[in-house]
Amino acid sequence: MKSNEFRKHAHHFVDWMANYMDAVESYPVKSQVAPKEIYDQIEQEMPIEGVEVDQIFSDFKDIIMPGITHWQSPNFFAYFNANGSAPSILAEMITATLGVQGMKWDTSPASTELEERMMEWLRDAMGIPSDWSGVIQDTGSTSTLASILTAREQKSNYQVNEKGFKGYSNMRVYCSEETHSSIEKGAKIAGIGKENVVKIKSDELLQMCTDDLEKAILSDIENGYVPCCIASTLGTTGTTAMDSVDDVGTVSQKYKIWHHIDAAYVGSALLLPEFQFLIKGIEKADSFFFNPHKWMFTNFDCSAYFVKDKNALINTFAILPEYLKTSNDGVVNNHCDWGVPLGRRFRSLKLWFVIRYYGLKGIQQKLRSHIELAKWLEVQINDSKDFQMIIPRTMNLVCFHFNPMESKDVPALNEVNEKLLNTLNASGSIYLTHTKVDEVYTLRMVIGQTNVTQNHVENAWSHILESAKNL
Ligand SMILES: *Cc1c(COP(=O)(O)O)cnc(C)c1O
Repeated sequence: MKSNEFRKHAHHFVDWMANYMDAVESYPVKSQVAPKEIYDQIEQEMPIEGVEVDQIFSDFKDIIMPGITHWQSPNFFAYFNANGSAPSILAEMITATLGVQGMKWDTSPASTELEERMMEWLRDAMGIPSDWSGVIQDTGSTSTLASILTAREQKSNYQVNEKGFKGYSNMRVYCSEETHSSIEKGAKIAGIGKENVVKIKSDELLQMCTDDLEKAILSDIENGYVPCCIASTLGTTGTTAMDSVDDVGTVSQKYKIWHHIDAAYVGSALLLPEFQFLIKGIEKADSFFFNPHKWMFTNFDCSAYFVKDKNALINTFAILPEYLKTSNDGVVNNHCDWGVPLGRRFRSLKLWFVIRYYGLKGIQQKLRSHIELAKWLEVQINDSKDFQMIIPRTMNLVCFHFNPMESKDVPALNEVNEKLLNTLNASGSIYLTHTKVDEVYTLRMVIGQTNVTQNHVENAWSHILESAKNL
């Protein structure tokens, strides 16, 4: 493609992008297509001849767009957000254009050095100890895997990497019943095994019971197991429950076990000084991550991973075949040695754009406004006769259900609430998801989309009231 042609298409696309942002609320939030509806419209055979961009773009609008769920709609209240923002998209355009592969310092010094600085900005603003080091991983699951692998290597004095599991087949990983599935996945991939993931009971607020944690560790030691890693969570996916970083840290230090903190979603709130109490005791932990691609307006993917002992991380992952040797090895950071993939996207550029565009102050304002909106909704629910909170709100997620008769018949209530959720999502005007708390079907409403305002939340609440009445 000639540059003139590229320019023409790119301008056209940018117009489409800006129009999309303006019109995002006019689409059904959750895609309404049936299974295979998109698949069946794509030709079975790979095309032999090329076609014009205009043709591809027109097919994109006709075939692909109906199968899109609009995560960037301010009426998206499902899962946890995967937010974008205009400055982030602008940076991604440049990233794609440069096509940098930032595996080593040599392969693009700016990619490595901007990443170092962005991780320091975040670390210092969030109250993470200044002697910790940061690196960007693709996703939270990868951050956690890096942590479990490092814990395993540190525990085996780097022998599992060398010799396999001979003599180290009895390691244990601890987390709460509410922990994200990525901990179990990480333990499986790391060769520790799902059966060696010990799920610790959680209390009525769904926080890990630290006394039970210590008991489980003592019992494991007595039975010849080797405790390797404890994962605590700040903001569980079901209900944003907060484990005590401080109490878990005390146990992890006592028994010399790696302590990993999963703050995937809620971590962004540490940019607000009033929430930094959540990581009291972090100096006793070993690693921490949060996803700017969730609640920091930086489009997917971008996971910020911090580690106390960067040498433990590097010793776990470093490789140096002849073809990767450079004259600067040992002087600079080569981030391919800080995680699983060799090749690395230039993700720090979008962080730089987002942080500089909004400033810390602008990001803080957005975060605080989302928390205020969630507070507002919580008040409406507590004041309503027909709805109940399932668990107190800890951040910007509201967990509730419809229970007009204050019934105790859980299966019947669950059925009604599932029906309510399906009705809401089929309407296309808002999108929520659910979880279960003690077998109770719970509607989750996450208020954290980049552009969500009071208006959107009020409309969503009216819509929920209306739909419940018509059930
Ligand atoms: C989203 C989430 C993850 C996984 O993050 P990915 O980037 O999707 O891999 C892990 N832990 C918690 C608590 C999460 O909410």
